[in-house]
Amino acid sequence: MDYMELMDFAKKLDRGLFLDAETRDLAVLDEPLPIGFGQTISQPSLVWEMTLLLSPDKNSKVLEVGTGSGYQTALLAQFSKEVYTIERIPELSKKARNRLESMGYSNIYYRIGDGSLGWPEHAPYDRVMVTAAAEDVPKELMEQLAAGGTMIIPVGPPSVQELQLITKDAGGEASRRTIEKVRFVELIGKYGWSSHPWKG
Ligand code: SAH
Repeated sequence: MDYMELMDFAKKLDRGLFLDAETRDLAVLDEPLPIGFGQTISQPSLVWEMTLLLSPDKNSKVLEVGTGSGYQTALLAQFSKEVYTIERIPELSKKARNRLESMGYSNIYYRIGDGSLGWPEHAPYDRVMVTAAAEDVPKELMEQLAAGGTMIIPVGPPSVQELQLITKDAGGEASRRTIEKVRFVELIGKYGWSSHPWKG
């Protein structure tokens, strides 16, 4: 997937389809917006940038942690073979599933639970995208990333994180690159922040 293909598709994809009635009018703004349950959908420019950095292709098996509204899931599903997406809040997962199924996507598999543990039954994944802030890269996700694969994940405390791009070479050796500062909602679960002392 390249920039032109992504932007052609992104321009046609109405973000309003992934928002509730109260926020739908704001869909065109390049702003994060609330999706209920204290969660947010990122600004579109960041979603597109992360999709480009991950750069899935038609052979990619993708793991997504944090289904949320399903907007990012749609972009991933459009450009990859299959997407395994995990969300901890059942209502959000169900809503996203209804939307994506009514749009005709049949290459997405949904799971409700702690995505920081990954989805070992379908591993390894060529691409892993995490859209909630982790304390560090979850060990399980690193293990489930295929050799030659790429992961993108915000790492850091709830206030501000570093967006990290992790690549595993053919031999399984991982290297990390920091892209920029970002702000995501926190990952809750085994690698979340809820039990961390400075969260109070
Ligand atoms: N990519 C989403 C944005 C999601 S916001 C979109 O395009 O709309 C982050 C999401 O991660 C929230 O829905 C939150 O409930 C979920 N989340 C947080 N911790 C999680 C965990 N451990 N496992 C799965 N989902 C988690």
